[in-house]
Amino acid sequence: MDIPQERKVLTEIPGPKSREWFERRKAAVPQAVFNVHPIVTARASGSIIEDVDGNRLIDFATGISVLNVGHTPPEVVAAAQKQLELDTHTCFHVTANEPYIELAERLNALAPGEFDKRTMFANSGAEAVENAVKIARKATGRPAVVTFDHAFHGRTLLAMSLTAKVMPYKQGMGPFAPEIYRLPFAYAYRWPSGPEHCAEEALAYARDEMHKQIGEENIAAVIVEPIQGEGGFIVPAPGFLTGLADLCREHGIVFISDEIQSGMGRAGRWFAIEDEGIVPDIVITAKSLGSGMPISAVTGRAELMEAVHVGGLGGTYGGNPVAAAAALAVLEKIEREELLERSRRLGERILARLRDMQSRHPLIGDVRGRGMMTAVELVTDRETKEPIDGPTGTGIVQRCLSEGVVILKAGTYDNVIRLLPPLTIDEGLLDEGLDVVDQAIGATSS
Ligand SMILES: *Cc1c(COP(=O)(O)O)cnc(C)c1O
Repeated sequence: MDIPQERKVLTEIPGPKSREWFERRKAAVPQAVFNVHPIVTARASGSIIEDVDGNRLIDFATGISVLNVGHTPPEVVAAAQKQLELDTHTCFHVTANEPYIELAERLNALAPGEFDKRTMFANSGAEAVENAVKIARKATGRPAVVTFDHAFHGRTLLAMSLTAKVMPYKQGMGPFAPEIYRLPFAYAYRWPSGPEHCAEEALAYARDEMHKQIGEENIAAVIVEPIQGEGGFIVPAPGFLTGLADLCREHGIVFISDEIQSGMGRAGRWFAIEDEGIVPDIVITAKSLGSGMPISAVTGRAELMEAVHVGGLGGTYGGNPVAAAAALAVLEKIEREELLERSRRLGERILARLRDMQSRHPLIGDVRGRGMMTAVELVTDRETKEPIDGPTGTGIVQRCLSEGVVILKAGTYDNVIRLLPPLTIDEGLLDEGLDVVDQAIGATSS
């Protein structure tokens, strides 16, 4: 479905029809299943969401980085429709299907590393995280998993246990999965002794902790987001990930790169870890892989993936043929339209705009990101770096929405505005959306 790629605000937002739906929603759906924006989508295409009141909104959230190739791209819709009519589901464990095998081949070829690989599919990011840890444990015979401050790996028991932030993700939901160890992440902007020491000190701490408190020979895997997503689009200080990867290699620890948010071109490469020159043992993808069709993948070294006995991995829907066919069309579109290159190019343009905003708005303490995975961290005072409070950030998000731009916050301190436009967005529309963000931040004093 084609919707004109233009912003159009017809009603106050939320409009009367969205408000009516939200009354019904309140009586039917628990509050825990949160909504950032109190609006209901009628249809979407490209970079535009049209709500039930007919407002056309520029989408800088893309369903939390799921729509790198834009909403309802015709090639992806056609591929899914075709497969839907051929075979919707037989379960891969009962009779296999072509898209599953073909997609596995494609991801094996795309993932870093000139070695034999295997890929398995699941439905959500959290499930891919669970499977990656299962594989690493089985392959190494070791129990421990190392994760980091500010990490987000999902909401199932193991994934939630790996996730850092207690509220809202974990509060009251323990006990958590055992044998999980959390280390500091090289968050340069907030590193106590200053950014120039960050990587070196974070690594020294990791090395020490892994030796003294966990024991390297007990560690199955280190799982890390090469650019942290929910934690606040934190790009680790240069050298930190390389040092970690060296430690892993030295001690036979599986290095898992969680590319669920940063992958598929979001940070300018198929996998953000490529910019670090690291070859991970396992990469996990989800979100933009299926462009909204639920599918996630674990891609890893053949000897790790084959360490699991027959029947040790799987699930009813994993690698569903419709989702896999859609994913194949997504990969093809990224390649054909050179969206990795576009992500890097437009990313530079966004960063330049954000730095210009920083020069005018004292609220912006830090500008960071890579490719089209960029964000601003907002503070009340640039010296103390005191985070702005939740309601102030929410005010900025709401102001953008009322002007017809959908954006999201992130961050451990809930003070990061992240930008996740489609990689395919028209440049004029991108600039227009950034103007709205600029004005919303400018109009907000802490
Ligand atoms: C979203 C996300 C997950 C969890 O994915 P779900 O599909 O929501 O289970 C895991 N890791 C990262 C980095 C994510 O951004």
